[in-house]
Amino acid sequence: MLPWIDIDTVLLDMDGTLLDLHFDDHFWREHLPARYAEQHGISIDVAKSRLQSQYETAAGTLEWYCLDYWRRTLDLDIVRLKEEVRHLIAFRPEAVEFLTALRAAGKRAVLVTNAHGESLALKLRETGLDGHLDRVYCAHDFGLAKEDPAFWGKLREPEPFDFERTLLIDDNLEVLESARKAGIRHLLTIAQPNSRLPVRQTDRFPVVHAFAEIAPRT
Ligand SMILES: [Mg+2]
Repeated sequence: MLPWIDIDTVLLDMDGTLLDLHFDDHFWREHLPARYAEQHGISIDVAKSRLQSQYETAAGTLEWYCLDYWRRTLDLDIVRLKEEVRHLIAFRPEAVEFLTALRAAGKRAVLVTNAHGESLALKLRETGLDGHLDRVYCAHDFGLAKEDPAFWGKLREPEPFDFERTLLIDDNLEVLESARKAGIRHLLTIAQPNSRLPVRQTDRFPVVHAFAEIAPRT
């Protein structure tokens, strides 16, 4: 159980935390390679290996999340391609109930995502997620990815949370490391960000298997 009495703000990641990472994994690993292969008249396997090296170049940077970057690099309309598979955008189990419980307990529920504005807009439109949150922040508006420890200090300008009284839940372990370096006290990761992949094991951070296990009781 979390010491809820000591927590008043909950920073929540979107993809792989509140929403099922299956959409994103499917998009980058299957759908985009298929469209890229069509565009270049190459096999899907060749498209996948070419894209894989492009992905490795951008991993961990804000560009990885930037649709303009991919539009320029790949000459494909990434937003339109995402729309083609938008039926795969879905909440993780009990995410809405968890957000409802947070707010019923008087906790501030704040979304903090590296997702690009257009990806964010598509997901909010498909899920209504923003209706369950007090505030939504996009890392692109700060010019830093969450993987950079300096991000968290910048976030405090519009959102003056107390590092000691804040919980961050994020499926990305590098993001949790960066928050730990910045001094955020309570940190949790997600056991199964993608519902189609096996549960992950890690001993770097405490793991949430089901939101119901950690929800505050009112
Ligand atoms: Mg995530």
